[in-house]
Order: sequence, then C-alpha cells, then structure tokens
Amino acid sequence: MATTRTFSIIKPDATRRNLTGAVTKMLEDAGLRVVASKRIQMTQEQAEGFYAVHRERPFFGDLVSFMISGPVVVQVLEGEDAVATNRKVMGATNPANADAGTIRKELAESIEANSVHGSDSEENAAIEIAYFFKPEEIVG
Ligand code: ATP
Ligand code: MG
Repeated sequence: MATTRTFSIIKPDATRRNLTGAVTKMLEDAGLRVVASKRIQMTQEQAEGFYAVHRERPFFGDLVSFMISGPVVVQVLEGEDAVATNRKVMGATNPANADAGTIRKELAESIEANSVHGSDSEENAAIEIAYFFKPEEIVG
C-alpha cells in the first residue's frame, strides 16, 4: 500500500470543547502524519462550496450553519492508504453507529456535530486539499 494524502477537518464541536489535541493524537496513533494544519473561521461561501455535493440534502443549511459556528482546523494527513486509514479511525457518520475506539464514538456529540471530516476518495482528497492549501503550505 502506498503512502498517500487525505484531507481532514476538526469541526467546531471539537474545537469548542478544546479537543484539537485529542483528535490529532488519535489521528497520529492511527499512523497518520499531519503535514499541513491551520485553524480558520470558514465563511458561509467557503462552507457552501466545500459541501456543494450535499446541496440538495435536507440537512444542508444546518450543516453549513454548524460548520461556520466556530473555528475549524483544516489538515492534510499523510500515511499508508491515508483515505481509508483516516475513515477507519473517524468511525461511522452517526456516532451512535461508530465502532468503539473511533474518534466519533469517543468524542462526537451527534450525527451533525460529529467532530471530524475526512475525504471519501483519493480524488476528492486532492480537490479538498487544493480548496484550503497552497502546495507550499504542505510540508511532508
Ligand atoms: P464528512 O463528509 O464530514 O467526513 P461523512 O462522509 O461521514 O462525513 P456525509 O454523508 O459526507 O458523511 O455527510 C457530511 C456531513 O453532513 C456529516 O459528517 C454530518 O456532519 C452531516 N450529516 C450527514 N448526515 C446527516 C443527517 N442525517 N443529519 C444531519 N447532519 C448530517
Ligand atoms: Mg463525506
């Protein structure tokens, strides 16, 4: 399995509860390396663009409001099969269905306030990384 990159967001419910370090430790313990990281306040336009695939879903408006309700930490993660490794440590979208030991099971508040985002494919990882980072901001 090759070393690849994925994109992660530590969501506002986690930054609000001062869990940036706790989430990052779980990512690192899963074998991922943080090769870029910044804390930002997303604008409404940025959040709408980021979640454009969910535009037609009933929860879209609430999701955008949640994502701009406080700061987030956007990160690029590197590791063996990074997309799948990250999705595994994140756990299921709904924390009630997430496996024990996953970030969402241990830390998330609800299906919406679920503490982390992770890219769902290598193709989307590349798009999402480019949405938030310039190449020179990523240092492996
Ligand atoms: P993410 O894309 O954030 O990594 P995911 O891939 O597990 O999460 P998606 O189906 O892509 O889940 O949904 C994106 C986000 O929208 C979820 O992480 C969650 O915050 C929110 N969401 C998804 N389903 C619901 C729902 N039924 N009600 C409220 N919010 C939801
Ligand atoms: Mg998703």
